[in-house]
Amino acid sequence: MTTSPDLQAASRGLYIGGEWRAAAGGGMIDVVDPSTEAVLANVPDATLTDAAAAVDAAAKAAPGWRDTPPRKRSEILRRCFELMVERADMLATLISLENGKALRDAKGEVAYAAEFFRWNAEEAVRITGEFGMAPAGTNRIVVDYQPIGICLMITPWNFPAAMATRKIAPALAAGCTVILKPASETPLTAYALAAIYEEAGVPPGVVNVLTTTAPGPVTAVILADPRVRKLSFTGSTGVGRALLAEAAKHVISCAMELGGNAPFIVFDDADLDAALDGAMIAKMRNAGEACTAANRLYVQSGIHDAFTAGLVERMEALRLGPGAEPETECGPMITRKAVEKIERLVDDAIAKGAKVVTGAARPNRPGFFYPPTVLTNASDGAKMAAEEIFGPVAPIYRFEDEAEVVARANNTEYGLAAYIYTRDISKGLRVAGAVEAGMIGLNRGLVSDPAAPFGGVKQSGLGREGGQHHGIAEFMEAKYIATSF
Ligand code: NAP
Repeated sequence: MTTSPDLQAASRGLYIGGEWRAAAGGGMIDVVDPSTEAVLANVPDATLTDAAAAVDAAAKAAPGWRDTPPRKRSEILRRCFELMVERADMLATLISLENGKALRDAKGEVAYAAEFFRWNAEEAVRITGEFGMAPAGTNRIVVDYQPIGICLMITPWNFPAAMATRKIAPALAAGCTVILKPASETPLTAYALAAIYEEAGVPPGVVNVLTTTAPGPVTAVILADPRVRKLSFTGSTGVGRALLAEAAKHVISCAMELGGNAPFIVFDDADLDAALDGAMIAKMRNAGEACTAANRLYVQSGIHDAFTAGLVERMEALRLGPGAEPETECGPMITRKAVEKIERLVDDAIAKGAKVVTGAARPNRPGFFYPPTVLTNASDGAKMAAEEIFGPVAPIYRFEDEAEVVARANNTEYGLAAYIYTRDISKGLRVAGAVEAGMIGLNRGLVSDPAAPFGGVKQSGLGREGGQHHGIAEFMEAKYIATSF
């Protein structure tokens, strides 16, 4: 089994029409290892000319892929899954190197990312239509589901493999061709996966990948092409809003997976150990760099001190280090800017009354490190109560009763994930119903599952990815045929 990634091969060029090529302007982007701040590799910096070439390639490949029998498409997707599993160690190391996440998190991501291919290989052959009588009895209503067309996909750096496969696999299953623009910080995984798709038999032009330092203009050119019919974006709410405005000019179907501000609610009657285990997953997976990360830990007064002590013990036991080193449990942040943002949020929280129980002191070493940190006495007026921390900081907010915590949990523009810990399942389901979020972990710190619909409400997004039919439906259009015979 291959374990060490070939960084040179992972950056062979833009992947357009089945060819690896230099960017039209000859520019390159440095990919930095956040553990050392050294340049790992560089990838081409696509221009508007490359963007137009990618649309041409996706358009040329579209009829052939649309007409490929579902069983054949399914087999190719299945092969993508198998190759990802075979190369899991290599892919995980690559993710750890360019993203910084601990190898164990990277391995979890590769397994999750690969699963989208297996799941959608199974979905590809189960796309059905509808056939029924019109209420007036005059004709039949026939509904056919067709691939929506060329899809532009834009993904973030925090899950470089999974955010891409969660979109590409259902799009391919539906019969669409795609252009992927991965994040500039983590392009190597996207290109390594493109090589896997190629080897698995995905025909030239069905998947195109381009990296650029000009995401606004490059994606605007793609969206302005009338052959492009779908925009699927995962990233921050701010960029999502800008892209929705851009897509509105061309009336393009949009799916938006945006930011989060997950409450993690622990009631007095929770199983303490289970709540602590769940908190460590919900807070510390990817060192807190997850849209679903627990951003506000609401702990009821009766269990507050025991929960805090347990969390501090677990956070202090985590080993900070370079992601790709096997013993690391908490890797660096993605950039210096990300560390500085966390520091600003922590300083603001302290100024508003929070107490540092552990962490909060940046280590003196190269790399973009921030230590696992626990704050108590956090205030609802602190900026971190409203913004994504996106780092290993756990602010604990004390609460007294159910109605109060539901109101505080909902006091955010976001609505992606929420977590609830209680042994009283009636209360758990009642609170799950009242909390405004697309996904709830009830006595669970992890919600992501390719077989379940992933997505948010409010400013956390539009649409769902994965799940039974939800994910693939984003890439299909219903065609109604009024039929008399
Ligand atoms: P981001 O800054 O919004 O960037 C996401 C992607 O958008 C990157 O590929 C970026 O390219 C591109 N982009 C930036 N500006 C653009 C523009 N004007 N036009 C078109 N594309 C543009 O987000 P991020 O910092 O990478 O990721 C973190 C955010 O993603 C967090 O808010 C997190 O909650 C969210 N997220 C959400 C989910 C979900 O499923 N809901 C999952 C993961 C992450 P460059 O890299 O070149 O700037």
